[in-house]
Amino acid sequence: MIPLYPLNTYSDLSFFALLFAGFMGLAIGSFINVVADRLIHDEPLSGRSHCDYCKKTLSFMDLIPVFSYLFLRGRCRYCHKKLSFQYPLVEFLTGCLFILVVLLSPQADMLHIVLYWGIVSSAWIIFISDLKYQLISDSVQLTFFVFVFLLKLIERATLFSLGFDVISGVMVALPIGLIYLISRERAMGLGDVILAFIIGFLFGMGKGFLALYFGFVIGAVVGIALILSQKKKLKSSISFGPFLILGMIIVALWGDVLLQGIKRIYGI
Ligand SMILES: [Zn+2]
Repeated sequence: MIPLYPLNTYSDLSFFALLFAGFMGLAIGSFINVVADRLIHDEPLSGRSHCDYCKKTLSFMDLIPVFSYLFLRGRCRYCHKKLSFQYPLVEFLTGCLFILVVLLSPQADMLHIVLYWGIVSSAWIIFISDLKYQLISDSVQLTFFVFVFLLKLIERATLFSLGFDVISGVMVALPIGLIYLISRERAMGLGDVILAFIIGFLFGMGKGFLALYFGFVIGAVVGIALILSQKKKLKSSISFGPFLILGMIIVALWGDVLLQGIKRIYGI
C-alpha cells in the first residue's frame, strides 16, 4: 500500500491536519453544490459555473467557497441579485463534516479517511438533491456504492463476506422495496430502495435495520410536524432519502452502543 500520512493517534492530529480537512471539505462542498443541481437537470458537470439570474460566467474569485459569498455579501458581483444561501451553507457544513470524520476516526490512515470522505460526500449529495428535488441521481448512488465497496476491499473483505454483505443489503432493502411495489412508486421511489440496499451492504443487517427504523421514526415525526404546521397536506409526499441518511448517521455514530443495548434488553 502507498505510505500515506498516518493519522494514528490523537496526538498526530495536528491543527494543520484539521485545517487541511476543513479546506478539503469547503472545496468538495462547492463541488457538491454543482453536482446536486446539475445531475438532476441532466447538465454536464464540466463547464464553468454561472450566475442563476444574469447567466454571467463566474470568475475564479467568485468561486472561493464561503469567503466569496461573505465578501460579496451574498449578492452576484454583476447583477447584484441575491445568491442562494444553499451554496455557502453546504460548503460550510461539508467543511465541518470532513473535520468531524477526522476527529471521529483517530485510528484511521489517510486511505480510510479519503474513503470516509467519499461516503459522507455521496450521502450528502443524495440528502440535498432528494430534499430539494425529490430525486436521487443514479450516478451518485453508484459513486456511493463504489466508495463503500472500496472500503470493504481495504478492510480485507473475502468473497464470502461480500456475499453476506449483499444478502444484508437485500434484506434491508426488502421492506422499502415492498412499500415501493405496494404503493406503486407513490410512497417510495426506486432510489430509496437502492439507498436502503447500500446502507444494508455497508452496515450489515443489524445496524442496517436500525438505520431503517430511525429513518421511519424521524420521517414520521417530521411528517406529522409538517402536516400540523400546515406546510404539507396529508396527501402530499415528502422524500424518504434524507431520513434514511439521518438514520445512517445515527447508526454510524452510535450503532454499536444501540445494538448492545437492544441485545441486553432482549437477552439475545
Ligand atoms: Zn448575476
